[in-house]
Formats: sequence, C-alpha cells, structure tokens
Amino acid sequence: MSASLDVTSLADAEIHRLREDFPILQTQVNGHPLVYLDSGATSQRPLAVLDAEREFLTTLNSAVHRGAHTLAAEATEIFEDARATVARFVGADDDEIVWTSNATEAINLVAYAFSNASVGRGGAATEKFRLGEGDEIVTTEMEHHANLIPWQELAARTGATLRVIPLDDDGALRLDDAAALIGPHTKVVAVTHVSNVLGIINPVEQLIAAAHEVGALVLLDACQSAPHLPLDVKALDVDFAVFSGHKMLGPTGIGALYGRRELLEVMPPFLTGGSMITTVTTTEAEYLPPPQRFEAGTQRVSQAVALAAAVDYLSAVGMPRIADHEAALGQRLVDGLFGIDGVRVLGAGIDLPRVGLASFDIPGIHSHDVGQFLDDQGIAVRVGHHCAQPLHRRLGVTSSTRASTYLYSTEDEVDAFIEGVAATIEFFG
Ligand code: PLP
Repeated sequence: MSASLDVTSLADAEIHRLREDFPILQTQVNGHPLVYLDSGATSQRPLAVLDAEREFLTTLNSAVHRGAHTLAAEATEIFEDARATVARFVGADDDEIVWTSNATEAINLVAYAFSNASVGRGGAATEKFRLGEGDEIVTTEMEHHANLIPWQELAARTGATLRVIPLDDDGALRLDDAAALIGPHTKVVAVTHVSNVLGIINPVEQLIAAAHEVGALVLLDACQSAPHLPLDVKALDVDFAVFSGHKMLGPTGIGALYGRRELLEVMPPFLTGGSMITTVTTTEAEYLPPPQRFEAGTQRVSQAVALAAAVDYLSAVGMPRIADHEAALGQRLVDGLFGIDGVRVLGAGIDLPRVGLASFDIPGIHSHDVGQFLDDQGIAVRVGHHCAQPLHRRLGVTSSTRASTYLYSTEDEVDAFIEGVAATIEFFG
C-alpha cells in the first residue's frame, strides 16, 4: 500500500499510484472507465483491507472471548487490537469503542440506553439518561434519518419532547435558534458533524459547548467526518460519536460507537444475551463492564480486523492530507456545478468549510434521469433524498443528485462529472 510521503498535499502522481490499491477503480461501466463519485454512500476498499479480512478468515477464524483453544485466543487478541487501532484513530481510549453493525445501530444503542434508564433499568447511576415529560431531546433539520428517527422514537417511548434546530434558507443551521432551543430541559443533543447532502462541516463546537453548559449529553454523527477529516473526540469534547466502517475503506456490517468511559459504565445495555454477562440465573443477570456489556452475541471479528486495516491505510496516507485533497475536490465540484446554467447547488451560499461532496437539483429534470444519464457514461452518483427528507423539504426539493469523493478521487473525475452534468441538461433540455 502507499506509505505516507513527506509532502503536505496528495500529489497527482501519488493519487494515481494509490488508485492501484483499489482494483475496482479499473472497472469499465457501460463502456467507460468507472468514475466513482458515490463514496459518501459507501467507499471502495483497498487490497490491504480485503487481504486483512481474507488472511484472518483463512488463518485465524474463530469466535472471540470464549473457547480455550489457540485460535480463539489469537482471534480475541487481534479483535481487541483492532478496537485499539480504531480508538486511536478517533482519539479515544481502547475501552471507549463499542463495535456495532453500523452507525444506525450505534445511535439506536444510545437512544435505547435513555429509554431503558427511563423505565428504571441500570439503577441510580443512570440519572443522566432518564427522560420523561418536560425533558427535551434536541436534533437538527439537517440530519440523516439515522440521527432523527431513533430520537423521534425515544421521545414517543418516554414522553420527552423532540426539538429540532431549524435551517436557514441556504440550508445552514440557525445557530441563534439553537442557542434558544438548548436550555435547562435539554438532556441530549444529537447533531451531524458533516452534512451528507450539503457537504458542509458544521460548527459543532458551539453546540457542544451550549449543550454542556446546561448539563446535556452530546452525540455526534461522525459518519461523513471520520472518513474524511482528522477527528479527535476528546478534543471536540463529545460524549458519544458514531461512524460506519463501510464509509471509511472498511467492510459493511461494522460500525462503532465512541462513548465517554464514565457514561458507558452506567448506561443500560441495548441488546442483551450471550457474551455480555458475568453471572446469570433464571431471573436475573450481572453484566460485564463496557465495552463488552454492549456487544451481545457472536461478534463480527473479520470485519473489525478489516476496519483496523482500513484506518491504518488512512493514517498512513495521512488524514490532514486527505482532508485537504477532498476540500479542493469539493470546491472544484461546487465551482463546476455553479458554472452550469440551470443547476442549483444545495447549500452553495453557506460560508463553511466543505468536504468533497455536493448535491444539486436541475429544475425540470428528475434526479433519477440525471443519475441514469451519468451512469450511461460510467459516472456513479447518488440520487434521491439521501435519507434526509426534512432537509430536502426545507430547501423546496423532493430529491437531488449527489457527487461525493474520497482520497482516490481525481480532478479529472470531477471534471468528467461536470461535463456529464452539462451534457445531461443539453440532452433533456
Ligand atoms: N449519518 C450520516 C450522516 C450518513 O451519511 C449515514 C449514511 O449514509 C448514516 C448516518 C447511516 O449510516 P449507516 O447506514 O452505515 O448506519
């Protein structure tokens, strides 16, 4: 794989070399070289990641944390090493990372901790997690449904009220309203770090400080930031953060929850069953300390090993350099789209830093037609509401087309996409 070079930005030559680590990028689609601009949905995996999973499955495959045999012991060691690698990647301590299936499950894990505590599970120590009428959960109009519906459901289960930080006409969070919404009744604030539709990096520091001032907990949806920016959960001072392996060069089926140790220690579990207990009688059970308390059932070991290989790959290239490369591609995307008559770039007026992701609408041409036309030229983009219907509704559109880059994306690919969009308008216009 490509080792980090002592330069400040990812040079063209390095990107071309690094692309060789991703065999899928050599694919031809509809007679054209694949231009993969859908990494925001799921990223491609380098050989180092595919090899790590295969190597584990062909030499060490075994269930972890039980079994007296050598393979089980070695599998447990590599599984826990993977946790430590992922923890280091986001600035957490090893036992503050809980494996989940994806970010969606991680958010549900936290939401269910609140409702389980609210019905008395977990005892006196769960005070911070208890919700009832008069308590408030705060989220935003910008969220992916994964960071909205679990909170709607939590409110319905507990009688708490869900408050939503609105967006302005451009699509940015209205921070004045946020300051008024986060108050003495707020128990939890759940907010996305990077919008999966607008590509902007939210000024979450302000929201985190406002939440902590009133004693509320903060969950950061880091699905679109952990893969693309240096992320330090301690420096950001969040209580929880979630991300998905498949968006950061890793496999599907694995994600992670970061939780502050003292919170994980008192939170009631979400899923219960085998592997998360010390003693069990027919009427009750004692639970293991975190993170195992939250990892009921047989674990996804090969996926954890592969995710560790993915973050090793990202670290070797260098997250600051990846962030710079993608910020430049993101600007090229926005500028290119902006230059095409008839294209409305969602969130274009927002003055915030961006990742390599932009969504747009072409009034009169359905996003599915845009996606189909681009696909005919080998260009892979996302169409629809991107699991963010409230945001689209606020901006007055039902769907959009989204292009999203990663470390392996090139300026030429962005330019091919821009030409493809211009040709789409010519064709349908
Ligand atoms: N949050 C954001 C911002 C996302 O972009 C996504 C996925 O698109 C999710 C949450 C949900 O991730 P997953 O489907 O991997 O659980």
